[in-house]
Amino acid sequence: QLLNGEQLRRALHNRIQELRGNIRVYVRTRPFLPNDGASSSSSIDILPDGESLTIAGRRGENPHAFKFDKVFAPSAGQEIVFDEVSEFVQSALDGYHVCLFSYGQTGSGKTHTMQGSGNGAMRGIIPRAVEQILAQAAALQTQRWTFTMKASFLEIYNEELRDLLVMMNSDGTTRPRDATTATKLSIKRNADGKSYVDGINMVDIDVEDRANGIEQLEAVMAAAARARSVAKTNMNSQSSRSHSVFMLHLCGSNEESGTIVQGALNLCDLAGSERLDRSGAGSNAQRLKETQAINKSLSCLGDVFNALSNGSKHVPFRNSKLTYLLQDCLSGDGKALMFVNLSPTVESSSESLCSLRFAQRVNQVELGKAVKNVQYSK
Ligand code: ADP
Ligand code: MG
Repeated sequence: QLLNGEQLRRALHNRIQELRGNIRVYVRTRPFLPNDGASSSSSIDILPDGESLTIAGRRGENPHAFKFDKVFAPSAGQEIVFDEVSEFVQSALDGYHVCLFSYGQTGSGKTHTMQGSGNGAMRGIIPRAVEQILAQAAALQTQRWTFTMKASFLEIYNEELRDLLVMMNSDGTTRPRDATTATKLSIKRNADGKSYVDGINMVDIDVEDRANGIEQLEAVMAAAARARSVAKTNMNSQSSRSHSVFMLHLCGSNEESGTIVQGALNLCDLAGSERLDRSGAGSNAQRLKETQAINKSLSCLGDVFNALSNGSKHVPFRNSKLTYLLQDCLSGDGKALMFVNLSPTVESSSESLCSLRFAQRVNQVELGKAVKNVQYSK
């Protein structure tokens, strides 16, 4: 059977991906903002190859050089960035377990990257990914594929999982506010060894009617934002102190061949990676606890990547909720992409250097060959 141009391009692309392993690191430096102060000299120099950068060292030190899969200039807007992840997003529809992270200190652009703002040009990866998947699912209908899509949205705060969609019913209608007091979620494994969150709300996204699907997504985002602001006043937490994970669960079945494909896309806005001293956490017991939980899960994420890159038999997925939750994306079955978000200011350079060093550890990882989750039901 001859492949058409698009199939050939995809096959070639997948082969290249396979050869390179299944983890990518992209660096994105945000532009200067009015609040950054008067000095607008950047600590970061991006080299013309689009993959390398240098960051100023401390006084008298040489600059540090790094190379990653991609380095975006501050001028790179949301659309350009999304273009570079759309293949990744697509593979969730092909049956892979895919995860995108944004990592960096508070104020470096993590939420801007993942979520963005408004419904115009500043839209981030979450809304664009949903739109792309809806469009592609519709296109695949001509090849007798039918897809279902469900969204969930959770937060990991102090090593506890919280459903951000408790105020929604699965059909998208809302529930009373006091429902937010309920449910502590736990991570479980199903018969296939895949992890899932027990009792989490899954909201249907309409694949048949794209406009409706997009409206449902907007309702999901609004409900999550409301849940976060309620939690904020109740528990004095801020979004920068928790990890948020937006999950899309995809299931496709082909009428003709009986093939069933199950993929997942996780979009993860990590808690601020800033170190203890700068956040002033020592002064307050609650804050100290938060910071320790964040440090634990981020360093566990680093440990997991390290163990994977060393080919260790034991990978400590279970050491944090985050890595346990995302195990399927981080092990042989999955694909992961990490954004390292950087602030360009000189004041941030030592935090930026920490982030880059963390990412350098990640970039050494080569996951096993990713496998599609395809079952043949016929
Ligand atoms: P974080 O989530 O890492 O704490 P934010 O995403 O909230 O950081 O970004 C901090 C501020 O910088 C926000 O006002 C955001 O709109 C702005 N910002 C971040 N990245 C960019 C960018 N690439 N272009 C324009 N503004 C940005
Ligand atoms: Mg944020």
